[in-house]
Amino acid sequence: MLKTQLTEVERRIQAACKRAGRKREEVTLIAVSKTKPIEVLKEAYDLGVRIFGENKVQELTEKYEQLPSDIHWHMIGHLQTNKVKYIVDKAELIHSVDSLKLAETIEREAEKKNCIARILVEVNVAEEESKFGLKTSEVIPFVDKISKYPHINVCGLMTIAPFVENPEKNRPIFADLRKLSVDIRHKNVDNSNVSILSMGMTNDYEVAIEEGATMVRVGTGIFGARDYGMKM
Ligand SMILES: *Cc1c(COP(=O)(O)O)cnc(C)c1O
Repeated sequence: MLKTQLTEVERRIQAACKRAGRKREEVTLIAVSKTKPIEVLKEAYDLGVRIFGENKVQELTEKYEQLPSDIHWHMIGHLQTNKVKYIVDKAELIHSVDSLKLAETIEREAEKKNCIARILVEVNVAEEESKFGLKTSEVIPFVDKISKYPHINVCGLMTIAPFVENPEKNRPIFADLRKLSVDIRHKNVDNSNVSILSMGMTNDYEVAIEEGATMVRVGTGIFGARDYGMKM
């Protein structure tokens, strides 16, 4: 089942790239493995998956310890400052930086571990009250400020679009995030290279790719529905 679903996601990514006149290599697929047991991740690994996304620090670190070291781990969920120290040198990319306090903590912990933390700024483009992320208007001053931190590398922007029946409804949101990243690049903020656009999930990744996503985060589409009742 996993193989069939992975093949199908890959096929759809290729088709979306083709429609948009983009190269397949421009889009990175992150297999969102949250709540899934180690054996399922191993199966995905054996099928060639090397990039996994997790949204909880403890789950990420447990899986990190148990699986091969050539896996790239992405922290895609909301991050509490007191947990930064556990993942700052394990996550290849933190997708969810949304406050100065969090950025300051990442800077401090990265300095202690003598690493450079690669991060994305999470933007709540749709300004949904239930979601984390900066408002669009707050992003440029924020990037300006945190790109001065020597142990943080601002690599791009991330958004979680609203859940909608028809993914077309999210197209303007993805287009807005892309516009914002172009604006930031035009400002040429030192020490930032805002080239990553992490947007699109199972329900809407094809539209996101058509609108310029460079990373899509797909969970259900690869691994099937999540069972939150199950204890990891
Ligand atoms: C769970 C999650 C995903 C994947 O969601 P699916 O709809 O299962 O593809 C993507 N991004 C974030 C931030 C998530 O928490």
